Order: sequence, then structure tokens, then C-alpha cells
Amino acid sequence: MIEVNPMGVVTQIKMSREVDGKPLYWVAAYYVDGLLIDTGCSYTGRELVSYLDDKKLNAVVNTHFHEDHVGGNHLIKKRFPVTICAHPDSVPLIHQKLKLYPYQEFIWGYPEPTDVEPIPDRIRTDHFEFEVMETPGHSKGHVILFERSQGWCFSGDIFAREMPKFIRPEEDMGETIHSMKKLLHLRADPLILYTSVGRVVEDGRQALQTCIHYLEDLAAKVRSLETKGLSITDIIQELFGGEHNFAQITNGQYTTENLIRSVLQIRQE
Ligand SMILES: [Zn+2]
Repeated sequence: MIEVNPMGVVTQIKMSREVDGKPLYWVAAYYVDGLLIDTGCSYTGRELVSYLDDKKLNAVVNTHFHEDHVGGNHLIKKRFPVTICAHPDSVPLIHQKLKLYPYQEFIWGYPEPTDVEPIPDRIRTDHFEFEVMETPGHSKGHVILFERSQGWCFSGDIFAREMPKFIRPEEDMGETIHSMKKLLHLRADPLILYTSVGRVVEDGRQALQTCIHYLEDLAAKVRSLETKGLSITDIIQELFGGEHNFAQITNGQYTTENLIRSVLQIRQE
């Protein structure tokens, strides 16, 4: 199912696999001035194309290669003579069949591998100019799009919530903090975050600062407990009351243990 939310010039397109008439889990793409940012999951590809059918589509960007951001690529390319762009590190990953956990296959489905092009530094639409910034951490080859005159930041998955409790094993929270600090330096007031989880954060700067502070504080606490001789399991128990149940739901992919291990790798300044 898809849910279209007009937000002035920007349109949010929320997409989810539908089971018994209900959404399983939403992911958001954004359409603005002929530019589509992310293409959702494979289950909603047809609905996305039918929404776009009577619209101009001049450019498509994948913020990163994850299956809930590239799933509509294949059908979009079949329907529109448009180039899809992604960070050069993501291009080969979007071109190959991803390996998915069972829960990912159930919620999002396998995206068809597609040909995409390396993204340029800037993308111009009829009325706007989007600066492309590399923002690794959540994944390699992750980009955000920034429209300076409007203060829009299409932030992909680099920020989802102020206090993350679980992450994927390949996420690097040191890099995530670094990327979020880069966003803090963007000259725009306010800085509006259009996130892939569907949240639009009007005071993006405040949200980013809260998240950075939470992660740096967490890293300090974890280091201190480790120095006292606590094991990773003990630290999870002490700080979070045990592993999050999301670990079970996601076949062990999203865990608090991954978060703890990643913040332990953050270099102290
Ligand atoms: Zn992602």
C-alpha cells in the first residue's frame, strides 16, 4: 500500500507491504519538482509507478543500496526513460542480487538488480538545486540531498530517531556521528530533515544534536563499564535491561549488542 502526503512542494510517499489490509512497516520516499528520492520496496513498485504515471520524472536518486530504498527501481526504469543515480560505492550493490534475511524478504522483498549511474555533486531540477553529500555510517555509499535555499535535507537512513537502541552489524556509529556533524554544519535555518522512516523533523539541528549527544554519552558509559570488567552481555543488561526484542524479529540483524560493539570502536578525542 502507499500513502501520499503532500507537504507543500515536497510530496512524501509512504510505502509498505500490505497484509490483511494493514501496513507491515512503512518506508518513505520523496517526490519534489520532478525528482524522486528513493523508490521504496519491491512489493510497492507497481503502486509507486502508477502514482508517478502522470507526473514528470526527470531524475531518481537512491540514498543507499538497502532493499527498502531501491525496490521500485526496476519498474521505474521500465516505465520512464530516466537515469537512477546512487553513490559510486552503492552502484555495484544495486546492480547485484542482495542477500536478505528472512524477515527482510517478508517485509520488503527482493529488489530486482538494476543499472544505476554514479551520482553527480549536484542535481538541478526546474526550480531547485540539490547538493549531494556523502554520509556513511548507516551503510557505505550513503548520500543525503540538501537544498540550501529551502533548508531541506533528504536524509535517507542517516538519522531515524534521537536515541537508537539497536543497529545492523555493519553500521559504524563513529561514522554516523561524523556524518550527522556534517549535517549540523549545513548553512540553513531551519534545517528540515525528511527521513526515510517517514518522520519529517522541522528542527533537524536539535534532533541531530540530541542524537549525537546520546551516542557520545552512551560510548562514554560503555567504555567506563568495560574498564570495570563488565562483559558486553553485562553492559547490555546494565544500560538497557537486556537485548531488545527487535533482535528476534529481525533474525538477529538489528541488535543492542551491535550498538554497544560499535560505540566501543569510536575513537576518543
Ligand atoms: Zn537503510
